[in-house]
Amino acid sequence: MSTTRPPGRDVTATRYGISRDELTVLLDGEPRYRVDQVWHGLYGRLESPEEMTNVPAALRRRLAAELPVSLEPVTESISDTGDTVKFLWALHGGAQVETVLMLYPDRATVCVSSQAGCAMACGFCATGQAGFTRHLTTSEIVEQVVVAARRARDGGRRVSNVVFMGMGEPLANEAPVWGAVRRLHDDIGLSARHLTISTVGIVPGIRRLAERDLPVTLAVSLHAANDELRDELVPINRRYPLEQLLDACRDFIAANRRRISFEWAMIDGVNDRASDAVELAALCRRLQPAAHVNLIPLNPTPGWPTPGTPPEGVRAFRDRLVALGVNATIRANRGTDIDAACGQLAARAMPTQSAHPVTLTTATAES
Ligand code: SAH
Repeated sequence: MSTTRPPGRDVTATRYGISRDELTVLLDGEPRYRVDQVWHGLYGRLESPEEMTNVPAALRRRLAAELPVSLEPVTESISDTGDTVKFLWALHGGAQVETVLMLYPDRATVCVSSQAGCAMACGFCATGQAGFTRHLTTSEIVEQVVVAARRARDGGRRVSNVVFMGMGEPLANEAPVWGAVRRLHDDIGLSARHLTISTVGIVPGIRRLAERDLPVTLAVSLHAANDELRDELVPINRRYPLEQLLDACRDFIAANRRRISFEWAMIDGVNDRASDAVELAALCRRLQPAAHVNLIPLNPTPGWPTPGTPPEGVRAFRDRLVALGVNATIRANRGTDIDAACGQLAARAMPTQSAHPVTLTTATAES
């Protein structure tokens, strides 16, 4: 097993946070090829230092101690069908986050968290209901992918996609998120278009994303196509209303030459009316190429009383959009039986400012 960072010890290097240059310094005195060996072990072979059998045992031990992991496993849940796995982690300081691995016939996707909790306060989202605890580091984000990728590999599968659709708002934690994107692309070797950043609509963040040097995929959680309703459902809309959001989306598409997708959680009688389809279609057409719409059947969460649109209503809304010329699909619902579906990630976010950080074991973290 990997060693975790001792509580309270101020260590800056973490296993998936250390840069290649920093690793070179750490390996000073070793043969030059060691840096490549260790780097390839960590990212190419997804090994922990203990597993790097091509590295001398003493160095393996030193690396395990000096490059601690950032995530302490708490629990793991597997859906009845076996194709969705949810990992619950404790972070240093005690906050908890979740990661979901989804195995499809043609791809394997990891859904990562970018923050413990979320400050965006969308009422229908369990993470939003819990409030914000803290940002995740690059290391904490990358490690989620590495652990899930190992699990996929154990089942003979290779992770192909990473979506920033877990807990948190990725564009409210830009630098660590971008650090993770770079590492997933440069070191793990995932293609940029298979990395999807999903945002509630932080306009300056979308604009900066458009200027980055990797053409990642952008998803925007729209949920309403007029400001009155969106102000209610997605409170950040009061700060960045639809016109500004659309402008930023247009610029992103122009810079990236990539289609974007709008996510739309279907809430019964709230955003599934004929008028909603008409407004949404008009909005999609204003983007060239027109935005793709991803309809998400609303998943139940404790703090939101309004039910989701029934399945036949979801299909009718999709058909209406298609008839209006919109490319719309219904997102397959994954992991509802293990509370791992969209918007259901609600790991308990515990306060981080403990004067005496506790060592989390599975037993204490679950109690
Ligand atoms: N903060 C980012 C990342 C979260 S992604 C964002 O808002 O895009 C998770 C997606 O699931 C978002 O589109 C979110 O709006 C949606 N979602 C949240 N709660 C949901 C729920 N209860 N049912 C279905 N989708 C939900």
